Parts: sequence; C-alpha cells; structure tokens
Amino acid sequence: MARVKFNFSAGPAVLPEEVLQEASRSVVDCGNTGLSILCMSHRGGTYEALHMEALANVRDLLHVPPEFAVLFLQGGATQQFSQVAMNLAVGKPADYTLTGQWADGAFKEAGKVATVRVAADSRKISPARVPFPSEIKISPDAAYLHVTSNETVDGIQWSAFPESPVPLVCDMSSDIMSREIPWSRFGLVYAGAQKNLGPAGVTVVIVRKDVAEKAPSTLPAMLRYQTHVEKDSLHNTPPCFSIYVLALVTRWVKAQGGVAALEAHNRAKAAKLYAAIDASGFYTGTADKAHRSIMNVTYRLPNEDLEKMFLKEADAAGLSGLKGHRAVGGLRASIYNAMPASGVDALIQFMADFQKRKG
Ligand SMILES: *Cc1c(COP(=O)(O)O)cnc(C)c1O
Repeated sequence: MARVKFNFSAGPAVLPEEVLQEASRSVVDCGNTGLSILCMSHRGGTYEALHMEALANVRDLLHVPPEFAVLFLQGGATQQFSQVAMNLAVGKPADYTLTGQWADGAFKEAGKVATVRVAADSRKISPARVPFPSEIKISPDAAYLHVTSNETVDGIQWSAFPESPVPLVCDMSSDIMSREIPWSRFGLVYAGAQKNLGPAGVTVVIVRKDVAEKAPSTLPAMLRYQTHVEKDSLHNTPPCFSIYVLALVTRWVKAQGGVAALEAHNRAKAAKLYAAIDASGFYTGTADKAHRSIMNVTYRLPNEDLEKMFLKEADAAGLSGLKGHRAVGGLRASIYNAMPASGVDALIQFMADFQKRKG
C-alpha cells in the first residue's frame, strides 16, 4: 500500500508509514494475542509492556534525567494550560512569555486558577518573533516562567531557551522530540502527542518530581500530577491506543538514530524550504528570519486568490494540509519528524512549477 498524499497538516499530523501499517495490524490482532489493541485490559501483560516501553522510550530518547517523571495524561495541551498552574503556581504568581496564539491560550487559562504576569509580549511584532533576552522581565519570586517552544500558528520558535532564575515550564506540543532539551532549566515540559509523537488522545508531561510533590493534596486526583507519578500513568484507564502508537513512533525514532539525528534531518528540511521561499521573489516567509520554526513553515503568496488556487492545485498534486491557520491565513507547511525529505522536495518542486505558471 503506497502513501496517497504527502501530509503537511499542522496536527493531527503525519506519522511514519511503517507505524501506520503496524498499528493497523494490531487493531485486528495485537502481537498474535488474538485480541485487538483496542479491546484488551490496560491491566494485562501485553498492554502493560507496551505502556512501560513507551514511557522508557520517551525517557531514553529525550535524555530525561532521573529526577523527572514522564507522564501520559489526557485533555491535550489545552488541559495543561490550567493544570500546570493548579499544581505549580501555589501561593506564588507565574510569569508568561506571550509569543503568539498558543502562549496566549496558556496565559488566559492559567489566569483563571492562579495569579499570572506578563514577562514579555511579542504577539504584535511584525514579522513575528519571540522576545529577545533583554525584553524578558524575569522575577525571582515567580513559581515558573512559561514559554511556548514553537508557535505552531505563527511559525516561530525559540532557537535557545531563556536563562531564568526560576524553572521554565514549556509547551512543546509542536516540536517535542525534534531537538534536544536542556533539562537543567526546566521544571516541567508538556506536549499533546498529535504533532510529533503519535495520534491525538495522549498528552506527554515531563515534570521534576520535587515540583510535582509540592502540589496541593486538595486537588482532584486526576488533576494532580503526583497521582500519575505514583501510578506510572495507570491510575485509571489510559488512552491505550494512543500510547501504543506512541510506543511505535518512539521505536521508529530510535531506528532513525535518535533525536540528534532527527534534529539534523529537520534542520536540513527546513533550510531547504526556506531557501526556496527566499530565492523565489514570489513567496514570502512571514516569520522573522532569526526566529523561524523548523517545524511549521509559514508563508504567503502575492494575494489571497493565488493562495486559494495554490492550495487547490497542491492538493490535487498530492500535497495536503498546506492551508495556514484560520487566525492568520496564508500557507503553512508543517514538516514534523515524520515528513520525509522527499515530501519537502515535492513541495519545493510544486512551488517552482506554480510560480512558473502564475508568477
Ligand atoms: C496543537 C497545540 C496545542 C493544542 O493542543 P491540544 O492537544 O489540541 O490541546 C497547544 N500548544 C501548541 C504549541 C500546539 O501546537
């Protein structure tokens, strides 16, 4: 069975072909058990082994230090916007860097359950970028400084994380496992799986154990990280199928040579696409060059009619999901870990061809 289209969707996003093939077999019969992965107990040996493997693979691949716990939760990154604050911003304010659509969401949700402050705001700056270190007001009395590693909508990314006297809490939904993480600065990292790790339904949280322990015991059990730390994320029925596919994706990442190998691959893919945009005199990148995302490449054509035509023709040519987020318009090529170089090459070829015909 061949891939039908190159999938540039921002999320849920492309998964490796071999992962999809194996997952589809396990929907009928998981590992010759005679049972579907969808219909087996989460307390049984088959599932438990896959669950523990997925946890261990995330830890190995991201070089998570032993003082952190890896958790598989539900509710998406959006649930983390408030859950982080409920657990960590207790009796202390939390500081936020506002860089775009997703940071904005995190800030607003946290503000409902905790005292939040703006440490920096680059939302209105054009072309889009993250704040410079000199623009960030960091207060040593904050519970944490929140950053959004990669703004999926705006196509910008922190190339280096800010130095901070307080632990960083980071939404890495759209770039986790695309590059190495400097753990010493972090108190907590969270990511919905559906961009780089697997299907929707599981949210990965990596939290320093001493930070999780301090959360109020009055929090409902499901909202308290410590509940899940103590139970290896098996307090209640986990999103078994999503975690199973995440196990397959992490096996695939290992087979690719790990995160450092993928990072080099990702940088090469992004550099090639941005170079094509910059050299065209037709397509225009929307993000500040020094802050461009290596995951979500955002760009525009000379007018919206051409953009509509581009999307229609690209889809017909087997290049799917290139429409920019509805809040900003334009085009967006999401080139996550599982997007092969051949997909980026096909897009560049199509762009050159379209320009020749319409430019
Ligand atoms: C997709 C995304 C989210 C939202 O994730 P859900 O799992 O849908 O809640 C949050 N933050 C970032 C950076 C994202 O890319």
